[in-house]
Amino acid sequence: MSVQILDGKSIAADIRAVIKNRVAVLRSAGGRPPGLAVILVGENPASQIYVRSKSSACAEVGFHSEMHTLPTTTSQSELIDLIDRLNADARIDGILVQLPLPNQVNEEAVIERILPTKDVDGFHPYNIGRLALRMPLLRPCTPKGVMTMLERTGQPLAGLDAVVIGQSNIVGRPMALELLAARCTVTICHSRTKDLAEKVRGADLLVAAVGRARFVPGDWIKKGAILIDVGINRGEDGKLVGDIDFATCSVRASWITPVPGGVGPMTIASLLENTLQAAELHANMSVWETDGKP
Ligand code: NAP
Repeated sequence: MSVQILDGKSIAADIRAVIKNRVAVLRSAGGRPPGLAVILVGENPASQIYVRSKSSACAEVGFHSEMHTLPTTTSQSELIDLIDRLNADARIDGILVQLPLPNQVNEEAVIERILPTKDVDGFHPYNIGRLALRMPLLRPCTPKGVMTMLERTGQPLAGLDAVVIGQSNIVGRPMALELLAARCTVTICHSRTKDLAEKVRGADLLVAAVGRARFVPGDWIKKGAILIDVGINRGEDGKLVGDIDFATCSVRASWITPVPGGVGPMTIASLLENTLQAAELHANMSVWETDGKP
């Protein structure tokens, strides 16, 4: 059996084309474009690259987007004031605060201040809670993008033994909730997990979100497994590599995502989908309370 590549770049391009079309239809009917506000605090070079690519994706599909760049010294109350202004701004459907934030700012408090209907990253406890209860609204972008890729394989997920390596709030945990909702039997692994290799060997579906270059070797992989590599790491040669050792794992897998060009582009596509979804929610806001909860 030869492995098939799950090409995130091409799936994401399809999604962007659909969104662009939808925005054109909205505009031609006299509607306003969906609006995304991106907040960057400080000068982290990786964060600067991420926010630039998010802004240019917005421009490509015809969204209104605005960047709010704040100094590293920004206080918690200054950031909360900006979020309050954006919560009240009718042109803005989505608010994205690029993480990590400087130490003086409490990330949880900032995320919780965003109106749940404008939480296009899907990190607000309200949106995570809805996902946990199988009534998702705005879903965390990276796990949502992975689920879209898995749908494209055409493989039924119900009943698969799925292993997620990583338990972060932004990737591992919501990923496990997504797979559970798809009726997989899910094992979540982390740095204290015993016999990690044995657990991975039982996986029909593996999602690696560790942050260590080529962490998963080929001899951990069950024949025919579906492999999703969320990791983005720099190899010794400076090139981007994933958490899964592509060369040795791909020969045993049925499907695999490359790095780069796999999950990364899907994360941005999901952000655009969430912003469009939020704009549609706000267009029907009469059915919502003013605090953004149904
Ligand atoms: P994170 O917060 O650092 O979490 C890493 C997770 O890996 C933790 O749960 C940690 O366990 C676990 N871990 C670390 N060493 C381990 C080991 N030896 N064995 C088993 N588990 C281990 O990272 P993250 O934010 O989830 O991101 C993970 C990776 O995905 C990074 O490379 C990041 O750059 C990438 N990423 C990519 C995208 C994308 O769009 N493609 C989006 C987000 C993140 P503990 O909890 O026990 O410490």
